[in-house]
Amino acid sequence: MSQYWSAVVHGLTPYTPGEQPKLPDLIKLNTNENPYGPSPKALAAIQAEVSDHLRLYPDPNGDRLKVAVAAHYGVTTRQVFVGNSSDEVLAHVFQALLKHNDPILFPDITYSFYPVYCGLYGIGYREVPLDAEFAIQPDDYHTPNGGIIFPNPNAPTGRLLALSAIEQIVQANPDSVVVIDEAYIDFGGDSAIALVDRYPNLLVTQTLSKSRSLAGLRVGFAVGHPDLIDALERVKNSFNSYPLDRLALAGATAAINDVDHFNHSRHAVMATRERLSQALTGLGFDVLPSAANFVFARHPQHDAATLAAGLRERAIIVRHFKLPRIDQFLRITVGTDAQSEALLAALTALLKP
Ligand SMILES: *Cc1c(COP(=O)(O)O)cnc(C)c1O
Repeated sequence: MSQYWSAVVHGLTPYTPGEQPKLPDLIKLNTNENPYGPSPKALAAIQAEVSDHLRLYPDPNGDRLKVAVAAHYGVTTRQVFVGNSSDEVLAHVFQALLKHNDPILFPDITYSFYPVYCGLYGIGYREVPLDAEFAIQPDDYHTPNGGIIFPNPNAPTGRLLALSAIEQIVQANPDSVVVIDEAYIDFGGDSAIALVDRYPNLLVTQTLSKSRSLAGLRVGFAVGHPDLIDALERVKNSFNSYPLDRLALAGATAAINDVDHFNHSRHAVMATRERLSQALTGLGFDVLPSAANFVFARHPQHDAATLAAGLRERAIIVRHFKLPRIDQFLRITVGTDAQSEALLAALTALLKP
């Protein structure tokens, strides 16, 4: 605290990111990184960009990346916004499209950055409880609101909402923007990008951090009606005209274009997820059905915080949220099969009476 802080800063409750430990040799299953590494073509494109060109500013509009995203998803470049991570894209979304008189709606259990952005931008919100099975009920979103946002699949539950249910929410709210945060959609869901041509109030955000294994490069994007994209461009150009550097633009463009690597990596993660879910169930865990690159599981006889601490002693880190309704769950990132084996061996030891 300091007398020099603005009133806004005094009132902030910042997001707490998952730990990025400095210790080597940890099995790191706490922040949903992809174990398989980025596309070799993306790495080559980044290396080729390391040159005297770095003295020059990058393309402020990221046009090459927009072209790649538009081609991959079958939309026009005017329907695409690119930014320095989807967290930054989401920040612009909150300021540009979700700040109105009515409170916005999001689930009571969801990505914990949303209330942080509300605090930063002075946006009111109402949390809509997930049902007893931790699913989103579309009918609960048929109330007056200043906007709606949730991840699909939801985080940290991993549960997927069908595209038809999303369409129902979008149709029921023609006067608000509905934002679908698809950070994990490539691990088993159908993207709502398929609906953007039909609904001018639908915005879809995605990231290259998870399915394209580029969390360190910080690239995300949004797809929606050109009027929604224009709002994001206005905020971006009032904040930072060059949010994506030359390395990020080169690497992200190559990563989007390398469809083979993308498919290979996400299918490997999905296959491991199914094996891991079954094995955890075999150990007595309740495992929520996941369409993401993590599983959310609780053990009826073992406290989650104690299990997380025990795993840490065995050099494995998972995420535990001390939050109402979910404090008995562990969120476990799907790593390689070898990492799953190590996790299961450690849990087997910890569960012994
Ligand atoms: C990881 C994640 C993001 C952020 O992705 P970045 O592009 O790395 O900032 C956004 N939303 C959800 C739900 C996430 O899990």
